[in-house]
Amino acid sequence: MSEKKLEKEREFFKKNKEEKSSIHKNIICTNCFKKNFSGKRYICCECDNFNLCGDCEELHTKNLIEHNLNHIFIKINKPINIDINKYDTVIKGKNQNLTIKNNQAIANITIFNTGEESLKDCFLSQIIFGRKVLTGKKIKIEEDVNQNEKIDCSIVMDVNKETVKEGDTKEYISEWRMFTKEGLPFGEIISLYINDLTK
Ligand SMILES: [Zn+2]
Ligand SMILES: [Zn+2]
Repeated sequence: MSEKKLEKEREFFKKNKEEKSSIHKNIICTNCFKKNFSGKRYICCECDNFNLCGDCEELHTKNLIEHNLNHIFIKINKPINIDINKYDTVIKGKNQNLTIKNNQAIANITIFNTGEESLKDCFLSQIIFGRKVLTGKKIKIEEDVNQNEKIDCSIVMDVNKETVKEGDTKEYISEWRMFTKEGLPFGEIISLYINDLTK
């Protein structure tokens, strides 16, 4: 085979391989129902199983898709080969009314692992910050929490009372959820209500 032909062949295989590795395998766009699409993928952090392909994300920014424009998306440039269906949790204490002590609101929750994968290196992260009063932290799970095991976590939020007016109550909500170490959301959304701002 001539050198030129060989070079062409190499290029063909390289391109083919690149195209294959840019496919979001087994992912369906929630809007256009395209399966195994390539290009960018957008995951809503707040809805369950809401994925958009690049084309539909453009429609979304123009408000042409029925979906809350305020929701936060994760953008995935390159497909991640993890099976998100293997991750799941049930959370005890997911709807809590919190009071503030020493400028902090603390929620104690228990995360039950109901999925097949260990929760090690997964993290809890805030997805809604509720105005500017709360600063969220990421909470990384450092140890192995296997299926049917549980872990207790404290979510500590700093609350700046100076920005809160007298009589402001129940307006502050902080929502959290679990993410895989690759940054994909899974499991239930944890809503925390900050109630007692003026005491
Ligand atoms: Zn689409
Ligand atoms: Zn959403």
